Amino acid sequence: MAAEKTLALVLRVVEFSETSCVVTLFTEDFGKIGALAKGARRKKSPFESALDLLAICRVVFLPKSGDSLALLTEAKLERRFRAAEKDLGRLYCGYYIGELVQDLTDMHDPHPDLFRAADHVLRRLDQGGADSSPPGLVLWFELAALRILGHAPEWDQCVGCGKDLSMEGRIAFGMLSGGVLCPNCRPGKRSVVSVSSEGASVLRRFAASGSPEEAGEVPEKCRGEIRGVTSHYLAHLLGRRTRMESYLGFLAGRPPAWARPAESKT
Ligand SMILES: [Zn+2]
Repeated sequence: MAAEKTLALVLRVVEFSETSCVVTLFTEDFGKIGALAKGARRKKSPFESALDLLAICRVVFLPKSGDSLALLTEAKLERRFRAAEKDLGRLYCGYYIGELVQDLTDMHDPHPDLFRAADHVLRRLDQGGADSSPPGLVLWFELAALRILGHAPEWDQCVGCGKDLSMEGRIAFGMLSGGVLCPNCRPGKRSVVSVSSEGASVLRRFAASGSPEEAGEVPEKCRGEIRGVTSHYLAHLLGRRTRMESYLGFLAGRPPAWARPAESKT
């Protein structure tokens, strides 16, 4: 097969032999692929250390038929993910974005808009600064990924009967139903949480925004509630909690584990 070129986000790098690695890439044009990078672990590697977790690379690969690994022939670094140099919270958010892309997508299923969303949010996490706050970036990405992959929760109309719901008082959100429920449809539904009208309107605004800049900030008083809704919704979808979830308490306003004083031994 002819060689293919595309941009790629490095999701996973596993040592394969003394000199080679197997990488999982989320490519802009071909979706998620697994590829063998021969010689990637040599000092003078043909990939020049481009194959770094969450790096964006320009790659050339030879696709193989079926489930076989592609052969990576070139990887040029476009941008490394350097958030760890700024703070651990941004690094964990980056890992979380990578985990969602890894676990929510299928192999060889292209979603260029998801690639661009991940690229954009990782870049903003990397930049740091007050105008790129992690709670807003992560929430926007979660909702964008759900929408792009066809799992967008419904916020406006009852998923049971289609009735428009007013955004007053508390609103019932069905994790398994995939959206808001009116008082008539709620009884008998499992895994229903109650969301404040303010939290629901923030979720609505983020879901409808084309970029994290347009969505703006997550108000501090809604952060815990919103984190609860999105993390539970994703857990229902994936059938388990995400691995990074326990590192993301700071998105809900809890003090981050790495900033708490170490426990005294006495
Ligand atoms: Zn209803």
